[in-house]
This record gives sequence, C-alpha cells and structure tokens, in this order.
Amino acid sequence: MSTRTTTIGVDRTRATARSGELAEWYAEHGRHDLPWRETRDRWAVLVSEVMLQQTQVARVLVAWPAFMRSFPTPEAAAAVPVGDLLRAWGRLGYPRRAKRLWEAAAIIAVRGWPDDLRELPGVGRYTAGALAAQADDLDVAALDVNVRRVLERVEGRSLTEGAAHEAMVDIGAPLRGRDRLLALMDVGAVLCRPRDPDCDACPLHDRCSTRGVRTDERRSRQPAFAGSFRQRRGVVMAELRAGPAPVGGLDAEALASLVADGLAIVAGPTAALP
Ligand code: SF4
Repeated sequence: MSTRTTTIGVDRTRATARSGELAEWYAEHGRHDLPWRETRDRWAVLVSEVMLQQTQVARVLVAWPAFMRSFPTPEAAAAVPVGDLLRAWGRLGYPRRAKRLWEAAAIIAVRGWPDDLRELPGVGRYTAGALAAQADDLDVAALDVNVRRVLERVEGRSLTEGAAHEAMVDIGAPLRGRDRLLALMDVGAVLCRPRDPDCDACPLHDRCSTRGVRTDERRSRQPAFAGSFRQRRGVVMAELRAGPAPVGGLDAEALASLVADGLAIVAGPTAALP
C-alpha cells in the first residue's frame, strides 16, 4: 500500500515520506489546501483556530467559508448582534466560542489588535501563538494537542510547557514560524494519530523514541455527548437559531444555563438569541 487519501483529499506516499525529512514531507504532503491556509489575514486565521479548538476539520471546512462570507472582518462581526454570530455558528457546538469571537471582534474593531493577543476573549496561549505564527510568521512555538502528542512521542516522555517549546524548535528545525507549526500539526493530524499512528510513513521515524508503542500517554477522552447536558443545550440552541420560541416548550435547565452564559435571552414567555 503506497498511497492513501485523508478526509481532505491529501495523497500521501509512504516511500517518499520515509526518505524525506519533516520539511520535505510537509512541502509534498502538508494540508496546504485547507482554505484558511490561503490567507495570512489575522481575523480569518483567528476564526479558523477558534472553530478548530473543539471541532473536527471536516466540519470546520463547511462552516468557515460561510462564516467568513458573512463576517469577513472584525468590524463586520462587531456590527451585528451576537445572535447573528450564534446563528452563523450553526451546529459547530460550544457556542460560547462564537460569543467570545464576537466580543473579540468588538475590541479589535474599536482599538485594533492588542500587542498581547491573549487580551482578546477566548484567546489563550496556544491560540495567540498559533495566530502569531500563521498570520505574522513569527518564530513562536505553539502547542496544541496534536503537536504535543508528536513531540512527546518523539521524545519518549511527557514534556513540561517549556520543554515542549524547546522540543518543538528542535524537532521542527530547520522550519520556523508558520511552516514549523503547520508541518507538526499535519504530522499529528495525518500520521501521528492518537490511535494507530502511521510510523512507517512518518518523516520523524528515524529520530522517534517510541514509534507509537508508548503506553503511558495521558488519554483525554471527550465525555459522551449523547444524553449529556451539552446535548440538551445544543437542542435548545438549535430551536433558537430557527427563531424565537415559547419558553414553556424548551428544556428549562438548559435554557437557564444558556441565558446565564449570554447565549439566549428570555422576554416574558419567549426565548430568543441575543
Ligand atoms: S514515528 Fe510514529 S509515533 Fe513517532 S512521531 Fe512519527 S507517527 Fe508519531
């Protein structure tokens, strides 16, 4: 078996990957066709990063273009009620992300981008680093769960934040900034999967300490969605995205929590998006 296709249509050739280093592999097999990689626009990259925080790439591939058509700039997002962003967020889940994005847009629209991107709502250390690397090509390390998994498997141990940053620079060399981040992200997503890593095709194979056999990784499992409170909130959000609804017909507990989060409002007998 020499060629496979990922969910986004990237062909990977095992023989080529075996003979190449990370930079070579990335140039040939990286996910360059992801639409948010065609831009260096900070807002576009921020929207993609926020969407990707807890959502699979395949779903973001559908949502991101439509969202960007509706809200191509922070100013466009800030000019509408938050409910418009929640509606555009659709079924991506974790709608608080959309609300924080709207809050960030409002700040950017008024004051411009802050020097420290972590001042923006919903932007933590990883997202700030990913934004600086991808949009501005700054040589900063940024660690998401996929990149950390690659680094820890290559090093064969759990890494502190500082050690992981050092490992990222070392393992990613000679790539820097944007290319280093995206190359390691792609290795993590395409080859170094949580289960069944494709070590034979991996450009880091020769220097990897574990080659997928390590068993003491921290396993982070998503809690079951079916029957969860998150699902109940999602049902209410779906109803409100369709339009105002009678309070009596909605899950009261889920609605109350959405109201508390600023994701829904109640006026008399009717609930709606803000
Ligand atoms: S060799 Fe295997 S375990 Fe090591 S980084 Fe590559 S895919 Fe991951």
